[in-house]
Amino acid sequence: ERIISGELQEQDNLEELSLRPQLLKQYIGQHKAKENLAIFIEAAKMRNEALDHVLLYGPPGLGKTTMAQIIANEMGVQFKSTSGPAIERSGDLAAILSSLEVGDVLFIDEIHRLPRAVEEILYPAMEDFCLDIVIGSGPSARSVQLDLPPFTLVGATTRAGLLTAPLRDRFGVLSRLEFYEIIDLCAIVERTAEIFETNIDKQAALEIARRSRGTPRIANRLLKRVRDISQVKGETEISLPTTQQALQMLQVDDAGLDQIDHKLLLAMIESFKGGPVGLDTLAASIGEESQTIEDVYEPFLLQQGFIQRTPRGRMVTAKAYNHFQMEVPET
Ligand code: ADP
Repeated sequence: ERIISGELQEQDNLEELSLRPQLLKQYIGQHKAKENLAIFIEAAKMRNEALDHVLLYGPPGLGKTTMAQIIANEMGVQFKSTSGPAIERSGDLAAILSSLEVGDVLFIDEIHRLPRAVEEILYPAMEDFCLDIVIGSGPSARSVQLDLPPFTLVGATTRAGLLTAPLRDRFGVLSRLEFYEIIDLCAIVERTAEIFETNIDKQAALEIARRSRGTPRIANRLLKRVRDISQVKGETEISLPTTQQALQMLQVDDAGLDQIDHKLLLAMIESFKGGPVGLDTLAASIGEESQTIEDVYEPFLLQQGFIQRTPRGRMVTAKAYNHFQMEVPET
Protein backbone atom coordinates (compact mmCIF):
# COMPACT_ATOMS: atom_id res chain seq x y z
CA GLU A 1 0.00 0.00 0.00
CA ARG A 2 1.12 3.49 -0.76
CA ILE A 3 2.55 5.03 2.39
CA ILE A 4 1.75 8.57 1.33
CA SER A 5 -1.82 7.98 0.29
CA GLY A 6 -4.31 10.06 2.27
CA GLU A 7 -6.84 7.26 2.05
CA LEU A 8 -7.60 5.14 5.07
CA GLN A 9 -5.61 1.91 5.15
CA GLU A 10 -5.85 -1.15 7.33
CA GLN A 11 -2.67 -0.18 9.19
CA ASP A 12 -4.33 3.07 10.36
CA ASN A 13 -7.44 1.56 11.85
CA LEU A 14 -6.44 0.82 15.38
CA GLU A 15 -4.77 4.08 16.19
CA GLU A 16 -7.02 6.49 14.35
CA LEU A 17 -9.64 6.40 17.07
CA SER A 18 -7.27 7.43 19.80
CA LEU A 19 -5.66 10.10 17.64
CA ARG A 20 -8.83 11.91 16.73
CA PRO A 21 -9.21 15.26 18.46
CA GLN A 22 -12.58 15.49 20.24
CA LEU A 23 -13.21 19.22 20.36
CA LEU A 24 -12.87 22.14 17.99
CA LYS A 25 -10.11 23.69 20.05
CA GLN A 26 -8.03 20.50 19.76
CA TYR A 27 -8.46 20.42 16.00
CA ILE A 28 -5.25 21.82 14.58
CA GLY A 29 -5.19 24.03 11.48
CA GLN A 30 -8.08 24.63 9.03
CA HIS A 31 -8.62 28.00 10.62
CA LYS A 32 -11.21 29.22 8.15
CA ALA A 33 -13.41 26.12 8.34
CA LYS A 34 -13.08 26.04 12.12
CA GLU A 35 -14.01 29.69 12.62
CA ASN A 36 -17.11 29.36 10.46
CA LEU A 37 -18.25 26.16 12.10
CA ALA A 38 -17.67 27.56 15.57
CA ILE A 39 -20.07 30.42 14.81
CA PHE A 40 -22.72 28.17 13.28
CA ILE A 41 -22.49 25.75 16.18
CA GLU A 42 -22.78 28.47 18.77
CA ALA A 43 -25.74 30.06 17.00
CA ALA A 44 -27.56 26.74 16.68
CA LYS A 45 -26.98 26.04 20.37
CA MET A 46 -28.28 29.46 21.36
CA ARG A 47 -31.42 28.87 19.33
CA ASN A 48 -31.63 25.35 20.67
CA GLU A 49 -31.93 24.00 17.15
CA ALA A 50 -30.19 21.32 15.14
CA LEU A 51 -27.20 22.62 13.20
CA ASP A 52 -27.77 23.21 9.50
CA HIS A 53 -26.59 20.39 7.20
CA VAL A 54 -22.84 20.57 6.55
CA LEU A 55 -20.91 19.41 3.51
CA LEU A 56 -17.19 18.87 4.12
CA TYR A 57 -15.07 18.42 1.05
CA GLY A 58 -11.40 17.97 0.30
CA PRO A 59 -8.83 15.23 -0.40
CA PRO A 60 -8.75 12.09 1.78
CA GLY A 61 -7.06 12.22 5.19
CA LEU A 62 -7.56 15.93 5.86
CA GLY A 63 -9.90 15.46 8.80
CA LYS A 64 -13.45 15.35 7.47
CA THR A 65 -14.59 12.44 9.64
CA THR A 66 -12.82 13.96 12.61
CA MET A 67 -14.58 17.28 12.04
CA ALA A 68 -17.96 15.55 11.75
CA GLN A 69 -17.42 13.87 15.13
CA ILE A 70 -16.33 17.14 16.65
CA ILE A 71 -19.52 18.79 15.41
CA ALA A 72 -21.55 16.14 17.26
CA ASN A 73 -19.44 16.54 20.41
CA GLU A 74 -19.70 20.30 20.37
CA MET A 75 -23.46 20.14 19.82
CA GLY A 76 -23.74 17.53 22.57
CA VAL A 77 -25.59 15.04 20.37
CA GLN A 78 -25.12 11.49 19.16
CA PHE A 79 -22.93 10.70 16.17
CA LYS A 80 -24.09 8.12 13.66
CA SER A 81 -21.93 7.23 10.75
CA THR A 82 -22.32 5.48 7.42
CA SER A 83 -21.05 5.87 3.88
CA GLY A 84 -22.42 6.26 0.37
CA PRO A 85 -21.31 2.85 -0.90
CA ALA A 86 -22.61 1.11 2.25
CA ILE A 87 -26.19 2.14 1.56
CA GLU A 88 -27.52 0.08 -1.29
CA ARG A 89 -31.26 0.39 -0.96
CA SER A 90 -33.65 3.18 -0.01
CA GLY A 91 -34.85 1.01 2.85
CA ASP A 92 -31.35 0.99 4.38
CA LEU A 93 -31.31 4.76 4.52
CA ALA A 94 -34.90 4.94 5.73
CA ALA A 95 -33.96 2.65 8.62
CA ILE A 96 -31.01 4.83 9.59
CA LEU A 97 -33.03 8.05 9.32
CA SER A 98 -35.88 6.73 11.41
CA SER A 99 -33.48 5.76 14.19
CA LEU A 100 -32.25 9.34 14.63
CA GLU A 101 -33.02 11.38 17.71
CA VAL A 102 -33.48 15.12 17.99
CA GLY A 103 -30.36 17.01 16.91
CA ASP A 104 -28.29 13.93 16.06
CA VAL A 105 -25.45 14.15 13.56
CA LEU A 106 -25.70 11.67 10.72
CA PHE A 107 -22.36 11.43 8.95
CA ILE A 108 -22.32 10.07 5.40
CA ASP A 109 -18.81 9.59 4.09
CA GLU A 110 -18.30 9.47 0.32
CA ILE A 111 -21.76 10.88 -0.04
CA HIS A 112 -21.30 11.28 -3.80
CA ARG A 113 -21.46 7.49 -4.07
CA LEU A 114 -25.04 7.17 -2.82
CA PRO A 115 -27.20 5.44 -5.40
CA ARG A 116 -29.52 7.90 -7.09
CA ALA A 117 -32.74 6.33 -5.75
CA VAL A 118 -31.34 6.49 -2.21
CA GLU A 119 -30.27 10.08 -2.69
CA GLU A 120 -33.82 11.05 -3.52
CA ILE A 121 -34.98 9.87 -0.09
CA LEU A 122 -32.57 12.38 1.39
CA TYR A 123 -34.11 15.44 -0.26
CA PRO A 124 -37.35 15.61 1.80
CA ALA A 125 -35.48 14.29 4.84
CA MET A 126 -32.99 17.16 4.71
CA GLU A 127 -35.48 19.82 3.72
CA ASP A 128 -38.62 19.04 5.68
CA PHE A 129 -37.44 16.32 8.06
CA CYS A 130 -39.83 13.83 6.60
CA LEU A 131 -39.55 10.46 5.03
CA ASP A 132 -41.63 9.39 2.05
CA ILE A 133 -41.89 5.66 1.85
CA VAL A 134 -43.83 3.44 -0.47
CA ILE A 135 -45.45 0.40 1.08
CA GLY A 136 -46.35 -2.57 -1.10
CA SER A 137 -46.17 -2.67 -4.86
CA GLY A 138 -48.42 -2.59 -7.89
CA PRO A 139 -51.96 -1.19 -7.62
CA SER A 140 -52.11 -1.66 -3.84
CA ALA A 141 -48.93 0.37 -3.25
CA ARG A 142 -49.40 3.46 -1.17
CA SER A 143 -47.09 6.14 -0.03
CA VAL A 144 -46.76 7.08 3.62
CA GLN A 145 -45.08 10.09 5.15
CA LEU A 146 -43.19 9.79 8.39
CA ASP A 147 -41.94 12.74 10.41
CA LEU A 148 -38.31 12.73 11.41
CA PRO A 149 -36.77 14.63 14.28
CA PRO A 150 -34.68 17.60 13.20
CA PHE A 151 -31.14 16.31 12.63
CA THR A 152 -27.89 17.42 11.04
CA LEU A 153 -26.56 15.66 8.00
CA VAL A 154 -22.80 15.96 7.65
CA GLY A 155 -21.68 14.78 4.24
CA ALA A 156 -18.08 14.22 3.20
CA THR A 157 -16.72 14.03 -0.32
CA THR A 158 -13.44 14.61 -2.08
CA ARG A 159 -14.84 17.24 -4.45
CA ALA A 160 -18.04 19.23 -4.07
CA GLY A 161 -18.46 19.00 -7.85
CA LEU A 162 -19.08 15.25 -7.56
CA LEU A 163 -22.46 15.87 -5.93
CA THR A 164 -25.63 16.36 -7.93
CA ALA A 165 -26.92 19.92 -7.79
CA PRO A 166 -30.13 19.07 -5.87
CA LEU A 167 -28.13 17.35 -3.14
CA ARG A 168 -25.47 20.06 -2.93
CA ASP A 169 -28.14 22.76 -2.71
CA ARG A 170 -29.62 21.20 0.40
CA PHE A 171 -26.52 21.80 2.48
CA GLY A 172 -26.59 25.09 4.39
CA VAL A 173 -22.88 25.03 5.19
CA LEU A 174 -20.26 24.11 2.61
CA SER A 175 -16.82 23.83 4.07
CA ARG A 176 -13.71 23.10 2.10
CA LEU A 177 -10.77 21.56 3.93
CA GLU A 178 -7.37 22.60 2.61
CA PHE A 179 -4.00 20.90 2.68
CA TYR A 180 -2.37 21.76 6.02
CA GLU A 181 0.42 24.25 6.54
CA ILE A 182 3.72 22.73 7.61
CA ILE A 183 3.57 24.29 11.06
CA ASP A 184 0.13 22.81 11.64
CA LEU A 185 1.30 19.37 10.50
CA CYS A 186 4.28 19.71 12.78
CA ALA A 187 1.93 20.38 15.69
CA ILE A 188 -0.10 17.30 14.69
CA VAL A 189 3.07 15.15 14.62
CA GLU A 190 4.06 16.44 18.06
CA ARG A 191 0.59 15.84 19.43
CA THR A 192 0.54 12.29 18.07
CA ALA A 193 4.02 11.61 19.46
CA GLU A 194 2.77 12.74 22.85
CA ILE A 195 -0.20 10.36 22.65
CA PHE A 196 2.27 7.58 21.72
CA GLU A 197 4.45 8.66 24.68
CA THR A 198 7.38 9.07 22.31
CA ASN A 199 9.89 11.93 22.34
CA ILE A 200 10.64 13.58 19.05
CA ASP A 201 13.19 16.18 18.13
CA LYS A 202 11.65 19.40 16.78
CA GLN A 203 13.60 19.16 13.51
CA ALA A 204 12.52 15.55 13.06
CA ALA A 205 8.87 16.51 13.53
CA LEU A 206 9.32 19.27 10.97
CA GLU A 207 10.89 16.86 8.52
CA ILE A 208 7.91 14.51 8.78
CA ALA A 209 5.56 17.47 8.42
CA ARG A 210 7.35 18.65 5.27
CA ARG A 211 7.00 15.28 3.62
CA SER A 212 3.38 14.54 4.53
CA ARG A 213 1.65 16.13 1.56
CA GLY A 214 -0.27 18.52 3.73
CA THR A 215 -2.23 15.56 5.13
CA PRO A 216 -2.57 14.63 8.83
CA ARG A 217 -3.29 10.98 8.13
CA ILE A 218 -0.02 10.69 6.20
CA ALA A 219 1.89 12.60 8.90
CA ASN A 220 0.65 10.18 11.56
CA ARG A 221 1.44 7.17 9.42
CA LEU A 222 4.97 8.35 8.63
CA LEU A 223 5.54 9.11 12.29
CA LYS A 224 4.61 5.54 13.22
CA ARG A 225 7.07 4.07 10.74
CA VAL A 226 9.84 6.46 11.75
CA ARG A 227 9.19 5.66 15.41
CA ASP A 228 9.65 1.94 14.72
CA ILE A 229 13.06 2.53 13.21
CA SER A 230 14.09 4.94 15.93
CA GLN A 231 13.08 2.42 18.59
CA VAL A 232 15.01 -0.40 16.95
CA LYS A 233 18.06 1.88 16.93
CA GLY A 234 17.58 2.37 20.67
CA GLU A 235 17.02 6.12 20.51
CA THR A 236 15.35 7.84 23.46
CA GLU A 237 14.16 10.59 21.15
CA ILE A 238 13.36 10.36 17.45
CA SER A 239 16.25 12.15 15.79
CA LEU A 240 16.49 14.04 12.50
CA PRO A 241 19.03 11.66 10.88
CA THR A 242 16.91 8.63 11.72
CA THR A 243 13.85 10.38 10.34
CA GLN A 244 15.64 11.19 7.10
CA GLN A 245 16.94 7.66 6.82
CA ALA A 246 13.50 6.16 7.50
CA LEU A 247 11.82 8.37 4.95
CA GLN A 248 14.41 7.42 2.40
CA MET A 249 13.71 3.76 3.10
CA LEU A 250 10.02 4.46 2.64
CA GLN A 251 10.88 6.08 -0.69
CA VAL A 252 9.34 9.40 0.18
CA ASP A 253 11.53 12.11 -1.31
CA ASP A 254 12.24 15.49 0.23
CA ALA A 255 9.25 17.08 -1.48
CA GLY A 256 6.96 14.35 -0.14
CA LEU A 257 6.68 12.63 -3.52
CA ASP A 258 6.84 8.87 -3.99
CA GLN A 259 7.24 6.43 -6.86
CA ILE A 260 3.74 6.98 -8.16
CA ASP A 261 4.22 10.73 -8.32
CA HIS A 262 7.53 10.16 -10.07
CA LYS A 263 5.89 7.81 -12.53
CA LEU A 264 3.15 10.29 -13.27
CA LEU A 265 5.44 13.29 -13.70
CA LEU A 266 8.02 11.34 -15.70
CA ALA A 267 5.30 9.94 -18.00
CA MET A 268 4.16 13.49 -18.69
CA ILE A 269 7.73 14.59 -19.35
CA GLU A 270 8.96 11.61 -21.32
CA SER A 271 5.90 10.37 -23.20
CA PHE A 272 4.02 13.62 -23.67
CA LYS A 273 6.81 16.20 -23.89
CA GLY A 274 5.56 17.82 -20.70
CA GLY A 275 1.95 18.05 -21.92
CA PRO A 276 -0.67 19.21 -22.31
CA VAL A 277 -2.05 15.73 -21.99
CA GLY A 278 -5.65 14.73 -21.31
CA LEU A 279 -6.46 13.08 -17.99
CA ASP A 280 -7.71 9.84 -19.57
CA THR A 281 -4.70 9.51 -21.85
CA LEU A 282 -2.38 10.06 -18.92
CA ALA A 283 -4.29 7.57 -16.79
CA ALA A 284 -4.10 4.92 -19.50
CA SER A 285 -0.39 5.48 -19.97
CA ILE A 286 0.46 4.81 -16.31
CA GLY A 287 -2.25 2.20 -15.73
CA GLU A 288 -4.24 4.15 -13.15
CA GLU A 289 -7.86 5.24 -13.08
CA SER A 290 -8.60 8.82 -14.10
CA GLN A 291 -10.67 9.39 -10.98
CA THR A 292 -7.84 8.20 -8.71
CA ILE A 293 -5.41 10.53 -10.39
CA GLU A 294 -7.84 13.40 -10.08
CA ASP A 295 -8.82 12.79 -6.45
CA VAL A 296 -5.74 11.29 -4.87
CA TYR A 297 -2.50 11.99 -6.76
CA GLU A 298 -3.08 15.20 -8.58
CA PRO A 299 -4.40 17.64 -5.93
CA PHE A 300 -1.09 17.77 -4.07
CA LEU A 301 0.96 18.00 -7.27
CA LEU A 302 -1.26 20.88 -8.42
CA GLN A 303 -1.13 22.63 -5.06
CA GLN A 304 2.66 22.35 -4.95
CA GLY A 305 2.97 23.62 -8.51
CA PHE A 306 4.48 20.49 -10.10
CA ILE A 307 1.66 20.37 -12.60
CA GLN A 308 -0.81 22.79 -14.03
CA ARG A 309 -4.28 22.37 -15.44
CA THR A 310 -4.95 24.00 -18.79
CA PRO A 311 -8.01 23.84 -21.04
CA ARG A 312 -6.11 21.37 -23.23
CA GLY A 313 -5.01 19.08 -20.41
CA ARG A 314 -2.36 18.72 -17.71
CA MET A 315 1.13 20.17 -18.11
CA VAL A 316 4.23 19.77 -16.00
CA THR A 317 5.89 22.95 -14.78
CA ALA A 318 9.52 24.03 -14.60
CA LYS A 319 9.43 22.98 -10.95
CA ALA A 320 8.86 19.37 -12.03
CA TYR A 321 11.82 19.42 -14.43
CA ASN A 322 13.97 20.97 -11.70
CA HIS A 323 12.86 18.32 -9.23
CA PHE A 324 14.35 15.63 -11.47
CA GLN A 325 17.36 17.81 -12.30
CA MET A 326 16.21 17.89 -15.90
CA GLU A 327 16.55 20.84 -18.20
CA VAL A 328 13.37 22.78 -18.82
CA PRO A 329 12.68 22.52 -22.56
CA GLU A 330 12.49 25.72 -24.57
CA THR A 331 9.01 26.55 -25.81
P1 ADP B 1 -10.89 12.16 6.31
O1 ADP B 1 -12.23 11.82 6.86
O2 ADP B 1 -10.86 13.53 5.69
O3 ADP B 1 -10.33 11.11 5.39
P2 ADP B 1 -9.99 11.79 9.06
O4 ADP B 1 -10.93 12.70 9.78
O5 ADP B 1 -10.27 10.34 9.13
O6 ADP B 1 -9.85 12.26 7.52
O7 ADP B 1 -8.53 12.12 9.62
C1 ADP B 1 -7.44 11.24 9.46
C2 ADP B 1 -6.57 11.22 10.69
O8 ADP B 1 -5.87 12.44 10.77
C3 ADP B 1 -7.37 11.09 11.99
O9 ADP B 1 -7.02 9.92 12.64
C4 ADP B 1 -6.94 12.23 12.87
O10 ADP B 1 -6.24 11.70 13.97
C5 ADP B 1 -5.94 13.00 12.07
N1 ADP B 1 -6.37 14.40 11.95
C6 ADP B 1 -7.11 14.91 10.96
N2 ADP B 1 -7.28 16.24 11.13
C7 ADP B 1 -6.63 16.57 12.25
C8 ADP B 1 -6.43 17.81 12.95
N3 ADP B 1 -6.91 18.95 12.47
N4 ADP B 1 -5.72 17.78 14.07
C9 ADP B 1 -5.20 16.62 14.53
N5 ADP B 1 -5.34 15.43 13.92
C10 ADP B 1 -6.05 15.39 12.80
